[in-house]
Amino acid sequence: MSDFNSLGLAEPVLRAVTEAGYDQPTPIQAQAIPVMLKGGDLMGLAQTGTGKTAAFVLPLIDQLMADGKRPPGRSCRALVLAPTRELAAQIGQSIKTYSEHTPISHAVVFGGVKPGPQVRALARGVDILVATPGRLLDHLGAGKARLDLTTRVVLDEADQMLDLGFIPAIRRILTAVGPDRQTVMFSATMPKQIKKLAEDFLVSPKTVSVTPPSRPVERIDQKVLFVDPVDKAKALVDLMAPEAGKRTIIFTRTKHRADRVAKKLVSYGHKAHAIHGNKSQGQRERALDAFKTGAAPVLVATDIAARGIDVDGVELVVNFELPNVAESYVHRIGRTARAGASGRAVALCAPDERALLAAIEKLMGRSVEPLNDAPPPPKPAKGEDAKSGQHRRRRRPRRKGPRGSGEKQAA
Ligand code: AMP
Repeated sequence: MSDFNSLGLAEPVLRAVTEAGYDQPTPIQAQAIPVMLKGGDLMGLAQTGTGKTAAFVLPLIDQLMADGKRPPGRSCRALVLAPTRELAAQIGQSIKTYSEHTPISHAVVFGGVKPGPQVRALARGVDILVATPGRLLDHLGAGKARLDLTTRVVLDEADQMLDLGFIPAIRRILTAVGPDRQTVMFSATMPKQIKKLAEDFLVSPKTVSVTPPSRPVERIDQKVLFVDPVDKAKALVDLMAPEAGKRTIIFTRTKHRADRVAKKLVSYGHKAHAIHGNKSQGQRERALDAFKTGAAPVLVATDIAARGIDVDGVELVVNFELPNVAESYVHRIGRTARAGASGRAVALCAPDERALLAAIEKLMGRSVEPLNDAPPPPKPAKGEDAKSGQHRRRRRPRRKGPRGSGEKQAA
């Protein structure tokens, strides 16, 4: 494998890499950095945890230094778009680290906070602007930002942008950037709409890809506990009793459930916070900081809130509820076993989640070791699809009356 010195990065950038403690580039870095340094468009297939942030930030800093221009007011020389504020903030943090020995400036703009300081940062012009799409459009609409002079654009986690409904916003933003630009896109998966976006906005891109997160599922000790929904809270408390103080992320499907689970754990003496879309930016930042420093090592999160959380040393991931989409399970448990470490994952599986578990096992090509005897799978009610995991409707007792009468109940 190549080392950083052979990639063509300038000395101040290499110095920051050395100080970050990186010995050699990750596979996505080794492939993407030379392409970006040449100025070509790039489609990078890589997930969080592969080192993809440095794969685009390092060459961006290098190129902007080499250009040697200054950013005009309200403008940015390079734009990085991220789907969530957490990811945007983390990219900003990476830029800060890697640009330490350079004059390259950056700013981060996202929603949920007052626009004033962002407007002031933009007014001076910045070398690299990291933004979530909605807030950037606000600034553009208000005439506080301009993109016509921007010559480099990175779209990070494009598939997550799609999930969050940002594609129309992305198209508007890319149209506002002049055509004479380098465009780089990173995505973990390649759904049709992302392919189309790449076709529309990338020019003869080189595609580089790394196998999904160095197959972390192989390194994760995965277990499943079969438990009735009403017993899940109690099961979690028992499960967490010997884990006090260990860095743990617990996933729930809903914000409401995240709050309830965090509260329950706190009542049992755990230092836990919930993090989800209804929390204010300040609350989210505080929860994340406490998680990182270990002051509150338990984080209860929904999938969207957890996106972009990049913390090493997560020992345990608990799926309080299994996700509806099998890929999300792999994303969730990939929060542990990062950077070559091993990790553990436990799923609490209710009878009506058995089909979801089966889909997850099929996706991974391996089974999850049960901690207790699995009850026989529930029989699907008539008209329900056994494979879809849609067993959640409760059967109602037969009702007399206009709607209930005559309806056949499945045995
Ligand atoms: P990312 O995929 O960008 O979220 O990066 C995942 C983690 O890998 C981050 O904690 C980075 O600090 C770390 N990282 C990035 N590049 C390297 C490297 N070349 N060697 C070791 N760790 C790295």
